[in-house]
Amino acid sequence: MTTETERRQRAVGVASEQLRKAILAGKCHPCGCLHQTVSALTETEVGRKELASILKETRDVLVAKEYDCLGCPVCYPALASNVVGDALPEAAQQLAACPTDSPIERVGWPPLPGDYHVIRYGAPVAVCTLNSADLAGRLAGDPPQGLAIVGTLHTENLGIERIIRNVMANPSIRFLVLCGEDTRQSIGHLPGQSLKSLFAKGVDDHGRIREAQGKRPVLKNLTADIVSVFLQQVELVSLIGEMHEEAIKGQIAAAQARDPGPLCGAATTSRIEMISATEPRRLVIDPAGFFVVYPDASRQRLIVEHYTVAGVLDSVVVGSTPAAVYTEVIERHLLTRLDHAAYLGRELGLAERSLLTGERYVQDRAPGEPGATSQEACGCESHTGDVPGSCETMPAPRMTRDRS
Ligand code: SF4
Repeated sequence: MTTETERRQRAVGVASEQLRKAILAGKCHPCGCLHQTVSALTETEVGRKELASILKETRDVLVAKEYDCLGCPVCYPALASNVVGDALPEAAQQLAACPTDSPIERVGWPPLPGDYHVIRYGAPVAVCTLNSADLAGRLAGDPPQGLAIVGTLHTENLGIERIIRNVMANPSIRFLVLCGEDTRQSIGHLPGQSLKSLFAKGVDDHGRIREAQGKRPVLKNLTADIVSVFLQQVELVSLIGEMHEEAIKGQIAAAQARDPGPLCGAATTSRIEMISATEPRRLVIDPAGFFVVYPDASRQRLIVEHYTVAGVLDSVVVGSTPAAVYTEVIERHLLTRLDHAAYLGRELGLAERSLLTGERYVQDRAPGEPGATSQEACGCESHTGDVPGSCETMPAPRMTRDRS
């Protein structure tokens, strides 16, 4: 039976050893974990007595904080803090919160950076693969339609806080699928079980997730009200341990099928501008000239003829893919306007489809040049497509658009 004194001595020994390792590890000196562990331990009785000397040595190597936490699988200051908190209940409260500050939100979505892949803002499902980074990468590589964002989670405090803030910044997200491995790390994090407990039991008055088994399941940077709104916004689909993409995709599809739509009155702080697109009202001619696009089915090639605004052919670009052709066009400065580039990209895509399917290809009109208003665009009735010179005022060679 170990006595209280023996437990204390052992905790002091282990904590000193771990802090010594942090002193020797340059990566720890600008890390928020070490900064705040030192602050928290200094507030404890053992920190003012037996650990005072090693804490002073540690303070001496600290440099200006450069990051909150590197998320190292073995974190020396966290281990020091854990062993003291476990052995000395009176110190546990001071050491309970993860030794990190709240990160600063940026404009746009997601507001907080993290280990995730953004897929689509308007989709209803977020997926957390816990410690399985490969699984997140595979889902992002072939994302199902309902997937908005997929990422990992390594800590049951700051990591969960980031998920909550990033999800709440997007009212379209109504489901959180939890999957992948929830392995207990050497410093004691158990994020999957903690997140599941959050949905089942909520938080207590100190922000601690009830019945969470991780070492520091404290959401110190979120109020209970914010957590409550998050729990209303999102339904948890728990598949902890599931590693098969197809099973996860099946759950994403099932969730999407019962998507209730964006949360009304969501208290989002993100400033995402929703813009209703309108048709361009008038054609603005590119001073670099215009294009005639056609697919050459016999050679399986895309061909783009470039004409000056005077209607003089000056180059022909030939390639097997839209990317090859438009890259060449851009590098040779054959266009100068973004709307013209978008138009060319769309036409090349349609021409490529014609090569692949045998469908007839007809080059479309240029943006802002609806057929009914072609006279308005350049003052002649023959003006169609990306051919600003095909009128009396700007003579151009006559062209047949249907070259398929
Ligand atoms: S996470 Fe821990 S071990 Fe890693 S750099 Fe920060 S203090 Fe050091």
